[in-house]
Amino acid sequence: MIFHVLTIFPEFFRGPFEHGVVARAGQSGLLQIKVHNLRDWTYDFHKTVDDRPFGGGEGMVLKAQPIFEAAESIFPQRDPAKQRIALLSAQGPLFDQRAARRLLEFEELLLICGRYEGVDERVSRHLADEEISIGNYVLSGGELAAAVVVDAVARLIPGVLGNEDSSVQESFTDLEGEGAGNGILDCPHYTRPAVFRGWSVPDVLLGGNHAAIRKWRSEAALEKTQRLRPELLKPRNPAVEADPESQGVRKKG
Ligand code: SAM
Repeated sequence: MIFHVLTIFPEFFRGPFEHGVVARAGQSGLLQIKVHNLRDWTYDFHKTVDDRPFGGGEGMVLKAQPIFEAAESIFPQRDPAKQRIALLSAQGPLFDQRAARRLLEFEELLLICGRYEGVDERVSRHLADEEISIGNYVLSGGELAAAVVVDAVARLIPGVLGNEDSSVQESFTDLEGEGAGNGILDCPHYTRPAVFRGWSVPDVLLGGNHAAIRKWRSEAALEKTQRLRPELLKPRNPAVEADPESQGVRKKG
């Protein structure tokens, strides 16, 4: 899979993508991350990407022109079934594990990072396939959010994690097969020492009885979900999810 990131701060991504499983996956060719500088699609001396908002008000707005031209040059003959364009935005549907799995279906993903007061609305309405928010809070820019999306999608690519069971058993993995459940939390994990400051590891984990360990893990995962995230145990509403717009898929026009 190829991830493209469009940003005015390309150097921001030197850190996040140079460590751990994402970096290793890049080195082994399982994925590519291409960071594009939005200023490469400007024509004036100062490489201007922003302008004042129509109607007045505080701050600056990222202009539509460089973003449209960048996307058109990154995807010259775009096939929407294979190449997805997403705008990072505090206003989009919330990103979750299901959204990460949905994005995995595409061969290429272009993530547009906003800055300042945001991005000219025509990018959302006429260029991006969807907006993505990573939470109900406002960040200074889309770069952190883009790094989150790349990491979450990348680790689902077959072969990226050394042990494929890691992604099958972790939090939010669907309970009843692809797309069927909310997914519960992962079970608690412990490592040595068996007793730390008087707190012991559950005996069952030390006994070597694998059937008993599996049973304990699934019960402990359920208990932790009930305690910390009880809403995950509520049934999903298939009627709402049948509506593609509720999944972040935008109608263009
Ligand atoms: N005026 C905008 C609003 O109130 O919705 C906030 C703009 S924010 C300061 C600048 C950029 O940060 C946005 O264009 C977006 O790309 C990014 N951003 C901020 N919060 C985000 C979030 N929760 N998820 C994804 N991107 C976010």
